[in-house]
Amino acid sequence: MGQVKNSNKVWHCDACGFTYSEKLGLPDEGIPAGTAWEDVPEDWYCPDCGVGKDDFTLMDESDL
Ligand SMILES: [Zn+2]
Repeated sequence: MGQVKNSNKVWHCDACGFTYSEKLGLPDEGIPAGTAWEDVPEDWYCPDCGVGKDDFTLMDESDL
């Protein structure tokens, strides 16, 4: 059963600087707004440089 989470984390691509916002999702990539990072498919890759999720780092909210 899915839990409603406070999804407002931002993940940062170490390779190119692309950011993924859980709040915004990536509708163009088929990922709806509000999708938590752990719910992004493991076979999803950075749309800008092609690295996998392992190369993304959680940004501290104080960095935003
Ligand atoms: Zn990237």
